[in-house]
This record gives sequence, structure tokens and C-alpha cells, in this order.
Amino acid sequence: MAYQAGEETPEAGVYRCTNCGAEITLKAGAAFPPCECSLENWSIVRRT
Ligand SMILES: [Zn+2]
Repeated sequence: MAYQAGEETPEAGVYRCTNCGAEITLKAGAAFPPCECSLENWSIVRRT
């Protein structure tokens, strides 16, 4: 499952952009931000 900017995180965790490899930590319910690569495709790496 991958997410784009503006979608809500289903759970707290570390997410990685599968397009460029950038990682971010987000809380549950936070909105995914745009990625530096502008082609964000966030998927969860691990739960926090
Ligand atoms: Zn990216």
C-alpha cells in the first residue's frame, strides 16, 4: 500500500518514498507531505 501527499497516515511509523528512497517519521492521522522528488509514493518501513 502506497500513499500520496495529502492522504492520512493509517498508523504511526517510518515511511519511505519508493521513488527516491527518502524516509520520514509520521504520527497516525498526519497528512503525508510532498516528497523532495515530487513523485512521492510513501510506503511504511516500520511501525513506531
Ligand atoms: Zn521521493
